[in-house]
Amino acid sequence: MVFDSPTRRAVIGGALALSASQFATAQTSGTLTADQMIDRIRQNVGVPWREQTVDKIVLGDGATPVKGVATTMMATFDVVKRCVAAGMNLIVTHETPVYMHQDDVQPLAKNPTYLAKKEYIERNQAVVFHFHDHWHSRRPDGIATGMIRELGWEKNIDPENPRRYTFPGTPLAQFAKDMQTKLSARTMRVVGDPKMPVNKVTASWGYMSAVAMAARPEIEVLVVGETREWEVVEYIQDCIAAGQKKALIVVGHVLSEQAGMKYCAEWLKSIVTEVPVQFIAAPEPFWNPNNPTA
Ligand SMILES: [Zn+2]
Repeated sequence: MVFDSPTRRAVIGGALALSASQFATAQTSGTLTADQMIDRIRQNVGVPWREQTVDKIVLGDGATPVKGVATTMMATFDVVKRCVAAGMNLIVTHETPVYMHQDDVQPLAKNPTYLAKKEYIERNQAVVFHFHDHWHSRRPDGIATGMIRELGWEKNIDPENPRRYTFPGTPLAQFAKDMQTKLSARTMRVVGDPKMPVNKVTASWGYMSAVAMAARPEIEVLVVGETREWEVVEYIQDCIAAGQKKALIVVGHVLSEQAGMKYCAEWLKSIVTEVPVQFIAAPEPFWNPNNPTA
């Protein structure tokens, strides 16, 4: 997601609470713990660590020695299993592994799916670190940097606003098709006239609210991961009905930020040399009936 939100806990990786055996392991092998690795991220991300942030360990124990680091857009159970199979036990995920952005596990306390995931992570000595706010607040935004590279939009960036891009009037249908190909998107959806020339594009990697959209009447083509169909989608339809040239391209949340976490793995490799670092892609969750696939 892109909007900021307060959270209840601010401090990550303060006092290390290593158990005796983990401390011995970490000492003898020279292996860093998850807390130590996250502290290194804090020191190097390039922006001051926030008082209020979701960027913290959500599942697993910070005293766990790290064998390898995986980055991913979304630590679904399937992604967690693939990280563990690849030997990566510190999982750096952009979106929460527990379904609620604030990582409040209280409503999940008796949920069998959550409990199975949590038990799997603990049994395999994995640690899931939510890395959202600071990767976005880094300048330039880490997610945007990866997405722009994936789409090949470097030359299209508006120098005054890295979320705006200019194009030479490519018809909307062609423009959307190009994006679909570059992102390997199965279920992209588009609102607007397929022949409309695309000149000015604004991207909201992840989510965009109607409140944010209403404040930006200059937006012509909005590229977004997801948005509510009864808010921004309706608004774009009304703009079109009112005679404005507007369009909306809904990429899907995972694919709209995924390349930003691919780039995060590259960045982590520059500050983590003791253990392997790898990007593990989260699959696009949806299929459509024309192309059913698991
Ligand atoms: Zn995001």
